Amino acid sequence: MRSKRAGPILVVEDNPINLKLLKLLLTVEGYDVHVATDAEHALELLKKLRPALILMDIQLPGMDGLELARKIKARRSHRQVIIVAITAYAMKGDEEKALSAGFDDYVLKPIDTRSLPGLIARYLDRQEAHTK
Ligand code: MN
Repeated sequence: MRSKRAGPILVVEDNPINLKLLKLLLTVEGYDVHVATDAEHALELLKKLRPALILMDIQLPGMDGLELARKIKARRSHRQVIIVAITAYAMKGDEEKALSAGFDDYVLKPIDTRSLPGLIARYLDRQEAHTK
């Protein structure tokens, strides 16, 4: 139900275990979940896909998440999408780097499976409120 209301979610993550976990977690919540394992794959999907939210690993092979987020937000068609970074770093400066690249927020690895669904729902509710 929520998926129809908010639109699809795209997960970009090269780690197969994390990808599987995120896909399962969000599918169980009723979201329409699409996955990509690198930036090129994500950009290919985004030619047609109009996700409400993108959950994106920063450390990707090839083009990293920072550059990918910048590219996506530069497109008029995707300017409204919420991009949430998944990062293993709790290093100082990372948050600023991510936010300046166009990420709306970030979550830390390891993924907290209990709090993530609520977090995603809040992002989508917030976006809905904005677009109305
Ligand atoms: Mn990675």
